[in-house]
Amino acid sequence: MHILFLRESYKNSSIRYMFKINENYLHLSRSYLFSTISKKVDEFALSNPNADIIRLGIGDVTQPLSPSVIDSMHKSVDEMSRKETFRGYGPEQGYKFLREKIATTDFQKRGVKIDADEIFISDGSKSDTGNICDILGDSNTIAITNPVYPVYLDTTIMRLGNSNNLMLLECNEENGFLPDIPVKSIDVVYLCYPNNPTGTVMNRIKLKQWVDWALYNNSLILFDAAYEAYIKDDEIPKSIFEIENAENCAIEFRSFSKNAGFTGLRCSYTVVPKALKTMSSNGEKQSLNMLWGRRQATKFNGAPYIVQRAAEAVYSIEGQKEVGDFISYYMNNADVIRNGLIKKGWTVYGGENAPYIWLKCPDENDSWSFFDQLLEKCHIVGTPGVGFGSNGEGFFRLTAFNSYEKTVEAVERINTHL
Ligand code: PLP
Repeated sequence: MHILFLRESYKNSSIRYMFKINENYLHLSRSYLFSTISKKVDEFALSNPNADIIRLGIGDVTQPLSPSVIDSMHKSVDEMSRKETFRGYGPEQGYKFLREKIATTDFQKRGVKIDADEIFISDGSKSDTGNICDILGDSNTIAITNPVYPVYLDTTIMRLGNSNNLMLLECNEENGFLPDIPVKSIDVVYLCYPNNPTGTVMNRIKLKQWVDWALYNNSLILFDAAYEAYIKDDEIPKSIFEIENAENCAIEFRSFSKNAGFTGLRCSYTVVPKALKTMSSNGEKQSLNMLWGRRQATKFNGAPYIVQRAAEAVYSIEGQKEVGDFISYYMNNADVIRNGLIKKGWTVYGGENAPYIWLKCPDENDSWSFFDQLLEKCHIVGTPGVGFGSNGEGFFRLTAFNSYEKTVEAVERINTHL
């Protein structure tokens, strides 16, 4: 009866009886960059069935998982098959065996004081960089760079709408694609170094300026270090926590996706230092470590045991060597692209401590017309810079995530046809 009544009223209802959506989603850009690219590539492939297309577009790894990772997964699959060793729900923050390995290997051995209980294992930095907003207030001003990894922008829009609270930090050729320290007050800033899409890195001096700025202004830095493993230069910090006092103003995101090829397996971690505190409106100090722990315990049931064992294997002696080889393989590709384009006289950023090469489109082409030229003349797919923000117009991203042979061939084709 009750249900019928509701249905009747719904039939005759005006709009006020309808459930509501989060209308912030209506402010999101409708044409998703990578679906537009794949539509264009599919059309090209259909009309050019013999074209051997080389994909240097999407930032996904291509090398298979390493032997240590696979061995560890086989072992843990076997454990799951036996009553005595079967695992059900694990700790939401991640297993101790992995959190401790991370704390010692990625931080303490490098002289950075981060403890296991400051590390939260997750299923990806994409989700964590978005979900972190759950523990932050809606009235915060949030800054992102332009160009930017689109997840920070879309997550912020989903939460705040097209609000005045979203600010852009302009990155361009004049500042070497590194944002200037803001003069306006900003509560939260997303920084990503090594950067996707520009491949640029932030040195110790510049990162210290950001930390000092955040400490002075009581701001929070959300530092995405998904590509730290690609840093070759010892002068470039791999973690924001290498900077003095950063534990009082920063959260760091790390992923096994790009260093160990876990893009399909899914494992990452977020570092929320215990020292990181802010004041709630009642004047009490609040710990972000406690809040994030509470958020994860409520909305997340932990990364799979098998996957966490796989991530643990990355820290074995063999695993570390394999990761090193993995990175060298891609960075060799990055060298091939970077050097090839520089030789051609093109202006190139990134690619030295990052798997991304950010090039200035030659002949004053805009990003999409260069995309079309590269596809039509060279049968190569890349990513138009403008897809990452207005400052990306006139720029283009190529990635090192393909085989060495294909990468060499791509550069040869560019030399011959452009
Ligand atoms: N952060 C940046 C800057 C990325 O480029 C990516 C993936 O491309 C991610 C995070 C996502 O990482 P994950 O695979 O851990 O979700």
